[in-house]
Amino acid sequence: MLKKGSKLNSILTGTCPKCQNESMYEDKNPLHLTKVLKMNENCSHCGLHYQIEPSFFYGAMYVSYGLNVAVGVAAFIISFLFIGSTLKTAFISIIVALIVSFPFVLRLARNIYINMFVSYDPNFKEKK
Ligand SMILES: [Zn+2]
Repeated sequence: MLKKGSKLNSILTGTCPKCQNESMYEDKNPLHLTKVLKMNENCSHCGLHYQIEPSFFYGAMYVSYGLNVAVGVAAFIISFLFIGSTLKTAFISIIVALIVSFPFVLRLARNIYINMFVSYDPNFKEKK
C-alpha cells in the first residue's frame, strides 16, 4: 500500500516529499520529544529545501488543528459509543488521546502540509 512515490508514503513516513529517499527529520522517532520538530534543512538526495519560505510550517498548525479535532472525535466515539463509558470518561479519553497523539499529529501535520506544495518527482536529479 505504501508505494514509493505516493503522497501517503511521504506523509506517513516523513520522507522527503520530492524524492522520498530519506526522512525530513533529524530523528525519525517522534517520541523523542525534544527533537520532534527538528528537521534537516535540505534533502541530501534531491536538495529540496524543506522550509520553502520563512515560517512555512506555520500553516501546518491549521492542519494539526484539523487532525486534533479528528483524534478527539474518534476518541469520543470509541469510548462513548463502542466501549460504552460515561460521558465524563469519554471526555477524559479525548484528553488522553490528544496528549498521546500530540507528537505524531505535529509531524503528520507538517508531512501533509509540505505534501500539499511539493509533489513526488521520479526524475529528480541526484545532488552531487
Ligand atoms: Zn529529496
